[in-house]
Amino acid sequence: ERRPAGTLVGRGLSVSFGPLTAVDGVDIEIGPGECVGVIGPNGAGKSTLLNLLSGAVPADRGSVRLLRGSTEVRLDRAAARVRARHGIARLFQTARLVPDWSARENVELGVRTAGPAAWLEALGLPTSKRRAARRARAAEEALARVGLVERAGFRSAELSLGQQRLVELARILVADARILLLDEPFAGLSRSAREVVAGLVAQLRDEGVGILLVEHDLSQIRKLADRLVVMDHGRVLAAGPVEETLADPEVVKRYIGD
Ligand code: ADP
Ligand code: MG
Repeated sequence: ERRPAGTLVGRGLSVSFGPLTAVDGVDIEIGPGECVGVIGPNGAGKSTLLNLLSGAVPADRGSVRLLRGSTEVRLDRAAARVRARHGIARLFQTARLVPDWSARENVELGVRTAGPAAWLEALGLPTSKRRAARRARAAEEALARVGLVERAGFRSAELSLGQQRLVELARILVADARILLLDEPFAGLSRSAREVVAGLVAQLRDEGVGILLVEHDLSQIRKLADRLVVMDHGRVLAAGPVEETLADPEVVKRYIGD
């Protein structure tokens, strides 16, 4: 099994809620600089699969590994925040921002601090002014990249849904995510916000971030995904190159044809 360093590999992932097996033996890989699309009808298990990869929901069975050249990191028992520290970021279907904080403060939350300063900050102790300034500058740069720099001082509750999602993406930018798990990132957005989000996803992919894109809008999938996974009843119904997979007779019959 030779895969590039930075590949996230899920094998045999399964989870049941009572009698319902929401995800049933799914294999999935996301390599650096690759966008993997995931489609499937409502209830197919797409969001749950993301939860298993991000650590929000523990798997009943299966493994999650992050490949690191000749070694690998086993993550299936790791909490979500540990996986986040390994560069696995998750965008939720609804924005998770601190409503009373400004856009900039929300983005600053994503700045990861290394070394002794990280301990001081984790304990809530003040660190240097210079560090605070650097953090604010990183947040401003990320907000500029998502086209929101003039909203940096707005409380996040004052922003539109699309702008809130862009703030979350800015937070992911400053966190230097290596793997990005996106759950219907275009849902509920205006056309212009959709374009900004799609442009950013494409840029991140081209910069080497691995992206898992759960999305029902096939035009976005066609535009962004390098490969496609079709889920149905918790299983992978088909997987492969996008057009080939969309033309798969099983997929046409059970998903697109209805
Ligand atoms: P999708 O994102 O493809 O629409 P989900 O992963 O959200 O599907 O859900 C898959 C199935 O698992 C659905 O039947 C859903 O009701 C169920 N499910 C998801 N999360 C939970 C949970 N925490 N508790 C109980 N059932 C759940
Ligand atoms: Mg879902």
